[in-house]
Amino acid sequence: MIIVMEPTAREDQIQKVAKKLETLDFKIVFNRGEVMTVLAAIGDKRLIDPASLASMEGVREVKLIQEPFKLSGRESKADDTVINLKNGIKIGGKNPPVIMAGPCSVEKDVEGLLKVAYTAKQAGAQVLRGGAFKPRTSPYDFQGMEEEGLKYLALAREKTGLLIATEVMDTPEIDLVASYADILQVGARNMQNYKLLKALGKVGKPVILKRGPAASIREFLLAAEYIMYAGNPDIILCERGVKGFDSHYTRNILDIASIPVIKKYSHLPVIVDPSHATGRRYLIEPMSRAALAAGAHGLMIEVHHDPENASSDGAQSLTTDQFKALMVQLNKLKKLLQELSHSNIEAVLH
Ligand code: PEP
Ligand code: MN
Repeated sequence: MIIVMEPTAREDQIQKVAKKLETLDFKIVFNRGEVMTVLAAIGDKRLIDPASLASMEGVREVKLIQEPFKLSGRESKADDTVINLKNGIKIGGKNPPVIMAGPCSVEKDVEGLLKVAYTAKQAGAQVLRGGAFKPRTSPYDFQGMEEEGLKYLALAREKTGLLIATEVMDTPEIDLVASYADILQVGARNMQNYKLLKALGKVGKPVILKRGPAASIREFLLAAEYIMYAGNPDIILCERGVKGFDSHYTRNILDIASIPVIKKYSHLPVIVDPSHATGRRYLIEPMSRAALAAGAHGLMIEVHHDPENASSDGAQSLTTDQFKALMVQLNKLKKLLQELSHSNIEAVLH
């Protein structure tokens, strides 16, 4: 931690800051310049609130030099985390992108779900996604089929061999959801539900953590930190767009830059959900391409057997035919990106 003192700071104010830190076992190195004094404090930063230090008289600024991500950050683990999802399917590192597809909500029409699941499997997806517990903006909207929906997902897994990913909304439901799901999803609205995150640390299954609609990348990684600190290292980060000022053409703003940023600061796999990021069917294809080109470890895409009559998110859901066509494109792109990653990308592009 670096403490920059005001040029006008008196010696007694400088000493007071140093004393405070020394009593907390920080080692202090004084750097006395012509104009101002800068203190370097080496120690356990968890013992002090930087904001309260910054409010001491004579202090101009307190700078943290280490990233706060002890477990999710690259500082603690330099190599990429690869998560063994199940049945040999791996996500992260140099593994080919994992494609997750399925309806926003699991609905009554089980045949519809099975149609989507068979299409997803044949087209090359690895995971069927679908919500049985739905976090909806309005309490009057469809809230999900709950356990009945989980049973439908399990049936689709049995028929197709796809893994299933589904959302868990509340701590008391974790055991139930985990007894069906292969991968648990934390929705964007729950990214900062710290009790839920802590409880998921005790579950022995991978967790997809979606970025909150207004969460900074730092808050996103710290949310992952909560789950990891509580004991579960298998976190997949999911960029799903953040709230912007213009929702006329897109539901959210897809923060493509977050992918290389997250990959720089964290070793965890990161996937992109272009469906919630854009809210528009025609934007799924270009944004999926952008996500893979930017280095995403996977995609999560909403697909419905009859989007016009979907209980939720129909406008952003692909039809099964559209998904098939998208996968033809993405499979070509995946191959191309794989080839590029084996060659000198700079030489190829310039
Ligand atoms: C979903 O995945 O269907 C969903 C509700 O997404 P988000 O939490 O990103 O809004
Ligand atoms: Mn949805």
